[in-house]
Amino acid sequence: MVDTVVRGGTLVAEGLPQADIAIEGGRIQAIGRDLPGGKEEIDARGLHVFPGIIDVHLHFNEPGRTEWEGGETGSRAFAAGGGTLYFDMPLNSTPCTVNAREFDRKCAALSAVSITDFALWGGLVPGNIPEMAELAARGVVGFKAFLCDSGLPEFPRADDLTLLEGLREAARLGLLIAVHAESEELTQALRRRMVEEDRSSIRDFLTSRPVVAEVEAIQRATLFAGEASAKLHIVHVSTGRGVVAAAEARARGVGVSIETCPHYLFFTEEDVERLGAVAKCAPPLREKREQDQLWVELLKGTVDIVASDHSPAPPEMKSGDFNQAWGGIAGVQSTLAVMLERGHHARGMPLERIGSLLAAQPACRFRIANKGRLIPGADADLAIVDVSKSFELHADDLMQRHPMSPYINACFRGAVTRTIRRGETIFMNGRITAQSRGALVRPI
Ligand SMILES: [Zn+2]
Repeated sequence: MVDTVVRGGTLVAEGLPQADIAIEGGRIQAIGRDLPGGKEEIDARGLHVFPGIIDVHLHFNEPGRTEWEGGETGSRAFAAGGGTLYFDMPLNSTPCTVNAREFDRKCAALSAVSITDFALWGGLVPGNIPEMAELAARGVVGFKAFLCDSGLPEFPRADDLTLLEGLREAARLGLLIAVHAESEELTQALRRRMVEEDRSSIRDFLTSRPVVAEVEAIQRATLFAGEASAKLHIVHVSTGRGVVAAAEARARGVGVSIETCPHYLFFTEEDVERLGAVAKCAPPLREKREQDQLWVELLKGTVDIVASDHSPAPPEMKSGDFNQAWGGIAGVQSTLAVMLERGHHARGMPLERIGSLLAAQPACRFRIANKGRLIPGADADLAIVDVSKSFELHADDLMQRHPMSPYINACFRGAVTRTIRRGETIFMNGRITAQSRGALVRPI
């Protein structure tokens, strides 16, 4: 008798209708109709079974800045949203993950507290290219670089030469570079001018980070990636024009993947003005016209991955003067809900496409074996979802450290009823049930 059978759910996978999933030793042993009984029986009739969400971009800040979030609270919130594997960014932990010693420290910290599996990004900063090989040997999924100021002095931006040489080293190591693509020249000059003219409104902030700053940085980064024959991943592309710029490079043969985030698909500039600092991020939320274009590209299939970029801060850093407030949106629990509400229900996006953006393509792009798909032999990472269940998100529902999020009071159709990580139910009906901890996952 197998450990568990998930019975009668509608599987979110190509060509798979209603079926049972047999789980043995944390892996999917078989998929089919009327499978023999298991020691544990999970009734999923009337529900959809997604592959567990793989979030390739978030900041849990272990070690060193756990008062902002932390792997325990962060992974609980992630699990509540159907998540089973996340990739933690090299900042805003401190020290940042820019060498093997800091990789080991972060890995130890997350191993002790995370209820989901995790993988780690390394950082690319001026001076640390000699560290990249050791980070690769430890098992980083890639290296993250900022083309503009990161907001944290301990993680300086990559100048052009650092980026170019970092791309060459990453190519040699068979890994990719991820870039935060906004022009330093434009954003800094516009910010200086804003300060000189004593302008400090939310609208002034938005104007200081224009769309062209994103498009120019994407064009430069893709040019360098082509020159270095390297793989590139553009994080949090906020506009349709940014997606098109990256796709044009891809059409020329550059190995680039494109990520966007739920907040660019859900909120607009008007929401930042309405909600204030809780909706502040960089690149900033955009006007409706830009958001519509981003949706066009997403529905066409040009975007590869949707990731949360969960980047929380303590409440005191998200209140007061908007221009001094931390730029980062806390939304790790809501990614699937946003895609179901705004993608599936509002725009007819097929559920298989959502499963692909949130699980299959992240696993494929980052060479994570045995995850992201509902197939025999894969890890039994599942999100069981009532796709049509309506709910309004309340602060009490949030499991992250500080229950602040622009999604509070938003209404969604699509609720996660259970999350299973390698065969173990870690979240069910609003409660965390995990007994064991998650583990480090390395690319193959
Ligand atoms: Zn980020």
